[in-house]
Amino acid sequence: MTPEIYFDNNATTRVLPEVFEAMRPFFTDLYGNPSSIHSFGSQVGQKIDAARAQVAELIGAADPVEVIFTSCGTEGDNAAIRGMLEARSERRHIVTTQVEHPAVLGLCQHLEKKGYRVTWLKVDHDGMLDLEELDEALTDDTALVTVMYDNNETGVIFPIHRIGEIVRAKGIPFHVDAVQAAGKIPVQVSDLGVDLLTISGHKFHGPKGVGALYVRRGISFSPFMIGGHQERNRRAGTENVAGIIGMGKAAELAQKHGPEDAQRIRALRDQLEAALAQSCPDCRVNGQSQDRLPNTSNIAFRYLEGESILVLLDQYGICASTGSACTAGSSEPSHVLRAMEVAPEWLQGAVRFSLSRLNTEQEVRYVNEKLPLIVQRLQDLSSLGKLSREQRSQANRGKALNGIGARG
Ligand code: PLP
Repeated sequence: MTPEIYFDNNATTRVLPEVFEAMRPFFTDLYGNPSSIHSFGSQVGQKIDAARAQVAELIGAADPVEVIFTSCGTEGDNAAIRGMLEARSERRHIVTTQVEHPAVLGLCQHLEKKGYRVTWLKVDHDGMLDLEELDEALTDDTALVTVMYDNNETGVIFPIHRIGEIVRAKGIPFHVDAVQAAGKIPVQVSDLGVDLLTISGHKFHGPKGVGALYVRRGISFSPFMIGGHQERNRRAGTENVAGIIGMGKAAELAQKHGPEDAQRIRALRDQLEAALAQSCPDCRVNGQSQDRLPNTSNIAFRYLEGESILVLLDQYGICASTGSACTAGSSEPSHVLRAMEVAPEWLQGAVRFSLSRLNTEQEVRYVNEKLPLIVQRLQDLSSLGKLSREQRSQANRGKALNGIGARG
């Protein structure tokens, strides 16, 4: 039996035991509806507000009331974008980037079809935005700027603080998709000056099916879900109580252990990359020269198919992915790597490894041992891969001969 090594934490994370324990009573004894008048229900409402305070603390919100619970990151993104557009119906222009998660990308494409004008900001070869292009894109018709905090595929972190300054100077609302950042690196809405920010519980060891949207006090925002009066009329629907409690606990733990965890995870990630650079010369890290999430490594293997690598990794009990879990099943190369204009021989062979506080050095060593075997096996099957290996060894032989000549 091969071990299960889970290096796919940007897709989702394991619920921590403390989180599960905090949730348990809300499935059994504390099942009241938080909107009920009776104390059996209303005590649950108080627990939700305690979880709201934990989430507010994680993201540095000045007031917990600015946190609205949602069902996931995708809902948070949709609620933010649609809510802002509806509140500013006279404006018809949206600014976003070419590398957003499908939750924002798909929605903006849909809105484009409905008649909105969308500016899709480009990224360079390292996955970084051009802030001048952003500045020039903003007009009196711009209803909203929506930019991800960091990229879910490459981990490249955008300069959110600087973007916020540019956008605020023009009086335009700014939404940030921080689903991959919150709980992994410090995210402080007050320092960043963002107006809306989306996070999701299952990306930092909370449960699936719960997220949160931060809406700065005073921002006019129209609710996306309409019905009851929950979440102060900003998100109708009976709350996912256990999920919210779990997300609150996960937020508390992330805040407590975050900086220490990030340091250890970064060291493991760097160890993985350094060893692979030695053992697989035909690989490279996408976005490596930029500031990146400490847990994420997007490694491209020349002339190979990322999906074939994943299948063989799976046989060794190693879980990774080619990109966003939400685009799995699509045979198209990643839109993020295409936007970075990654050369064709590297485009199909990208694998994303994403670590968490639960990973160990032993696991990294195991992956570093198996991955070169997998790459070699696939190169042997691929004529281009074989060719590139032969070219490399010829070049190395040449270098060695030159060296002998020089010494002689
Ligand atoms: N935004 C980003 C950057 C993500 O990485 C994800 C999920 O991977 C989402 C949004 C969607 O979050 P959820 O899975 O909670 O809907």
